[in-house]
Amino acid sequence: MARLLPIAKMGEPILRQVAEPFRPEEIGTPAFKALVEGMVAAMRKAPGVGLAAPQVFVSKRLVVIEHVPSDEDARDAILLAVFVNPKIVWSSPETVTTFEGCLSVDNLRGPVERSKAVRVSYLDREGNPGEIEAKGLKAVVIQHEFDHLDGVLFVDRVKDTKLLCHEEQYEKYHAGGRAWEAGE
Ligand code: ZN
Repeated sequence: MARLLPIAKMGEPILRQVAEPFRPEEIGTPAFKALVEGMVAAMRKAPGVGLAAPQVFVSKRLVVIEHVPSDEDARDAILLAVFVNPKIVWSSPETVTTFEGCLSVDNLRGPVERSKAVRVSYLDREGNPGEIEAKGLKAVVIQHEFDHLDGVLFVDRVKDTKLLCHEEQYEKYHAGGRAWEAGE
């Protein structure tokens, strides 16, 4: 079994760099496929809803997202998606505030205001161009993960740092009010 990719934690300089786009000839190579598979495995193992390449020490513009809800609330489900060189081409003026966490920021959550819906253009893992519109949890995850490609962490976007909390306190005080549900 392949070794799991290590996750870069806050303080690693690579998390603060602007990641490089893939050149067309890099997409679909064995090294590229291994990176995508390694990122999916690391995301599932963590487990996390998304992972950006800089989080596994690769400063390239690549994001994977997937969410399989542990309960039966299928509204939150997100099928596995791979975004290469993605760009947000439209964001809704309406916003939603969600307590976010991050695999690179252990045990911390904080409220971040994001656009409620976004439209994204990207290349898929074969290099084919695609465009999707996302809302709710998926839109929030997309914005969080794409931020990683520009060296931005969710903590940078927390306006009221007095609301930053550890996982246990998040569960205790905030877990009832998931904003993406309230905002639907
Ligand atoms: Zn993150």
